[in-house]
Amino acid sequence: MTFEEIAALERRYLIPVYNRYPLAIARGKGVFVYDQEGRRYLDFITGIGVNALGHAHPRIVKVIREQAARAIHLSNLYYNEYQGVLAKKLCELSGLQRVFFSNSGTEAIEGALKLARAAGHQRGGEAKSKVVAVEGSFHGRTFGALSVTGQQKYRDLFQPLLTGVTFVALNDVAALRQAVDDSTCALVMEPILGEGGIRECSPEFLQEARAATERHRAVLIFDEIQCGLGRTGKMFAFQESGVTPDILVVAKPLAGGIPLGAFIAREDLSAALPSGQHGTTFGGGPLACRVALEYFAIIEEEGLLQNAARVGAYFNEQLKSLAEKSSLVRQVRGRGLMLAMELTIPARPLVEQALGEGVLFNSTHDTVLRFLPSFLIQEKHVDRGIRVLRKLLREAKKAAKSAAAN
Ligand SMILES: *Cc1c(COP(=O)(O)O)cnc(C)c1O
Repeated sequence: MTFEEIAALERRYLIPVYNRYPLAIARGKGVFVYDQEGRRYLDFITGIGVNALGHAHPRIVKVIREQAARAIHLSNLYYNEYQGVLAKKLCELSGLQRVFFSNSGTEAIEGALKLARAAGHQRGGEAKSKVVAVEGSFHGRTFGALSVTGQQKYRDLFQPLLTGVTFVALNDVAALRQAVDDSTCALVMEPILGEGGIRECSPEFLQEARAATERHRAVLIFDEIQCGLGRTGKMFAFQESGVTPDILVVAKPLAGGIPLGAFIAREDLSAALPSGQHGTTFGGGPLACRVALEYFAIIEEEGLLQNAARVGAYFNEQLKSLAEKSSLVRQVRGRGLMLAMELTIPARPLVEQALGEGVLFNSTHDTVLRFLPSFLIQEKHVDRGIRVLRKLLREAKKAAKSAAAN
């Protein structure tokens, strides 16, 4: 099929919720993807942070082949060989004690909110049911997750959502202190806002989150679906802050592109979800869990946290030096391989022009270029991306000047 045929079918038959870039990707290998005609693109977005091990990693391909021939799905009616092993791994890595597996990040957020509600009722009765969240955050598109997503543009069409949700401005410590009270069952936040433009919670904000939830016996939920599992150069973003949540939510890269999410909770909370009170058909299947174990083995054996930290720091420096020379750049933000460049102009046209240069970038929040490359990325790939960015910024500047002159 040609690109036009593929696009025409989607235009005709899909509910038109996606504003796709004009590219059909046929396959990928390492840090590159290839389109229908075999044209190669350097991938700086990696399926929105899912393909942290790049595309078609030989060990991931091998383990999927082997496990697919044994069992893909068995259901949670039975034990499988891999769910407990993976749960143990997640507990050891996070310092938390009990895991529930889902099929996506959003579903893991839903489960975490349900656990926090149930625990809140145990601790403080029916009234202890409110949730505090952060303006500009993103936690998913189901009713619960959407209710705690701090962006009105995503919520408006679907009202009424969950009641009792209060949003506080990012890094407004006083507002956070004010918002959490005895009727709060949960405070949910991303240590680094992803979809919200790569904006970090300050250490003071995280510390107040911990203190306020302890003061009022509420559950602190960290959504590390985008920033966790190695992206910042640490296994979890919270590990740099010294603030530990009561529930940690992960997903995106966990099973190398096979859908898998999880929330990991403190031991004392886990009893609030007794037998029969939560569940899923697909979550925690043997294929997904085995691939996730391979994900962690590869990260460790290939030294990918170190690579993410080193190349991430280099990328950050290069972006900053580019920013100093361009009046179109407002700010460079982020940590490790979770980086952003905020522009003074819309970012999407640059992302589309970059396609013509053989590079995949992404835009979020209108003016923000977002970079979530694979952990395999090297300095030479960064250099290539920076060269393209420099060229596009120069051209955008020229276009702005000639528009002003006319
Ligand atoms: C992607 C994302 C989600 C939603 O995860 P899905 O797997 O798309 O359901 C939630 N929170 C954050 C921070 C995310 O980046």
